[in-house]
Amino acid sequence: MEGDEVFDVSEALASLPSPKWPSPQKDLFIGELERLLPLMDELKEQATPISIKDVKLDAPVANPSKLINAPINYRAHIEETAADEQIAYGRDMTKSIWHWGLFLKANSALSGVGIPIRLRYPGRRTDHEIELAVIIGTECKGVTREDALNYVAGYTIGLDITIRGPELQSFRKSADGFAVLGPWMVTADEIEDPGNLDLELSINGQLRQKANTRDLVYDVPRLIEYAASMYTLYPGDVIFTGTPEGVGPIEPGDHIEAWISQIGTLNAIVNKEILPLPRHDPVLDEIEAQEA
Ligand code: MN
Repeated sequence: MEGDEVFDVSEALASLPSPKWPSPQKDLFIGELERLLPLMDELKEQATPISIKDVKLDAPVANPSKLINAPINYRAHIEETAADEQIAYGRDMTKSIWHWGLFLKANSALSGVGIPIRLRYPGRRTDHEIELAVIIGTECKGVTREDALNYVAGYTIGLDITIRGPELQSFRKSADGFAVLGPWMVTADEIEDPGNLDLELSINGQLRQKANTRDLVYDVPRLIEYAASMYTLYPGDVIFTGTPEGVGPIEPGDHIEAWISQIGTLNAIVNKEILPLPRHDPVLDEIEAQEA
């Protein structure tokens, strides 16, 4: 990307090894990014620019081995969560990340900006959560926070779409399309300090979330240290760093605009249709009983 223009340098992918079973636990492209970047620069010189309006952008990572998520990682979001029964759902959310640990979203929830978000669970609140997303570049485990940023390939904007309710996070946050990444990845060398990025999210032009990553409880290096103390991190793994205050419901047809300084703007649409649930779903029964 340069300004509003896209340069097709996909030819660089031809030099990636074709995996044989069992496939490696990593995104092949991100794993070879450092080698491919000079090649992509060369290819760009001959590429015809295409307007951003004429392309559909997929998620900047195709095959992460996991989508790691930080819960309640901004103090003001901890306060709003504790104060709102629809968010907390009986859980004690005052204790924060050192009490709750990290959680995973299903990889199949991964989506780019070109695909409308499809709501589930008619009648249930589904929220937007803007988050700085970190893409791991080099395999690591047991790294220290001092060393952690050396393992980052780049940064992107993440939407952690969330159904509120009593179910576990890995269920409520893992529907297809509920992990939106984009519009692109900015390589780590272009972001001086991931601990000082502004975030803003608007719905239909109305500002809902506004914060700065300096207010993270666990900042990016500490999150990497925490995650790598539990999991081996592979190239392409994504860490959603947590959402700031201002979360709220999205409705069918809504236009989400998420902006992070030094990265760009992610535009996403909420599908007009809500995906129907199977019959005899206990949640539907509960909703029907409440409506009756
Ligand atoms: Mn989140």
